[in-house]
Amino acid sequence: MNFCLTIFDLKENRYSINALLSALEKEILIEEIPIYFFKNKSALLKGVEELLEKFEKIIIAFSFFTTQLWDINDVIKTLQKTFASKRKKLILIAGGPHPTGDIKGVLNWGFDFVFTGEAEKSFSEFIRTLKFRENFSQVKGLAYLNENKEFIYTGKSEKINLNSYPPFSLKLNRLNPIEITRGCPFGCYFCQTPRIFGKKVRHRSIENILKYVELLLERGIKDFRFITPNAFSYGSIDGKTLNLEALETLLKELHQLVNPMGGRIFFGSFPSEVRPEHVTEETVNLVKKYANNDNLVIGAQSGSDRILKLCKRGHTVEDIYRAVKLTIKAGLKAKVDFIFGLPEEKKEDIKETIKVMEDLAKMGAIIHAHTFMPLPQTPFVKKKPGKIDLDLLKTINKLLGKGLLFGDWKIQEELAEKIYRYFQTGKIEECIKNSI
Ligand code: SF4
Repeated sequence: MNFCLTIFDLKENRYSINALLSALEKEILIEEIPIYFFKNKSALLKGVEELLEKFEKIIIAFSFFTTQLWDINDVIKTLQKTFASKRKKLILIAGGPHPTGDIKGVLNWGFDFVFTGEAEKSFSEFIRTLKFRENFSQVKGLAYLNENKEFIYTGKSEKINLNSYPPFSLKLNRLNPIEITRGCPFGCYFCQTPRIFGKKVRHRSIENILKYVELLLERGIKDFRFITPNAFSYGSIDGKTLNLEALETLLKELHQLVNPMGGRIFFGSFPSEVRPEHVTEETVNLVKKYANNDNLVIGAQSGSDRILKLCKRGHTVEDIYRAVKLTIKAGLKAKVDFIFGLPEEKKEDIKETIKVMEDLAKMGAIIHAHTFMPLPQTPFVKKKPGKIDLDLLKTINKLLGKGLLFGDWKIQEELAEKIYRYFQTGKIEECIKNSI
């Protein structure tokens, strides 16, 4: 079939998009299909208009988070309206965290296919199936409505071995931090990660990581960052027990490869983080010895042991204090993540969180502030949206004024309310109306 792939290419979704492109590259499909990227709605509409002249079918691919659902819904509605007479030539596909958790909702917006969970394998198989005009029911991880409008789900997508897939597409020069670990054994109730990628950790081998670092060095890349839910868990079989030997080997070999070339390694900092109980003298020393970051991002989430327990965080407030103390003692900055308005929070829990934030700030930590949003597939999806308590707001503003707090807590408070309404009513338009 004569078709092309167009991608709605937003910055927020580039890691997932690049992972799919890497899968196409591995399956040697990348040279076979024309691929086009569009960075906004008007460019996409114009592009599709032109491409309709050349191709029998156009796949339009979206990957998105729940926080983007209004924008994506708007693009889908516009596409359907604008190309109503040529709708059959378009194949609208969705994947990523929101579609995976809201399959039927997203199909109702007008998407033709939803890719659930990890899509590296299913996406390549889908492209191959389309090329040979075969039946999609064989492609695992797909959800769609058949000709009789019956809901079809082909079963769970296969979890990949990271070593079998490149971390990005070199051919398309779509580069990003190297994903070194996928999956998380900690089932924090507010988080989608273990629900999408599973609780079993899968690590990319050191040999494989070094191979891609070397390829990036050849392209003149000097700064190396990594994607992992918990950087210090690298090499750990269960993801909970530290494997210091594997961690040191990874960092030492990275250092030996990157340092002579004038490159830098960032480990345990953006875009990844570390869990508080994994911050030990040994792990901090490894960062100091082999990496170049001046900070660690530590996931604290609450200053109340009761709330930490309720969220199934698996660490205590004491772990947070200890982690921050060790980080600062080693001469690194501590950036500490908090989520405000977590479900079941009482005044006492908020007071405890305020105290912990103020203590940490006095110690020299910087607070990264978030507001709780009820996300699909998580045990907290039906919980009330996060609200910023007035006393907490005073502390936020105080720390903000001193440059000791940053984050999207304000916009997330608004989004949380809209997301809550969407999941309560299932109607996107109503949520927009109610939120204005
Ligand atoms: S918040 Fe972090 S530790 Fe908890 S489940 Fe998500 S990725 Fe794992």
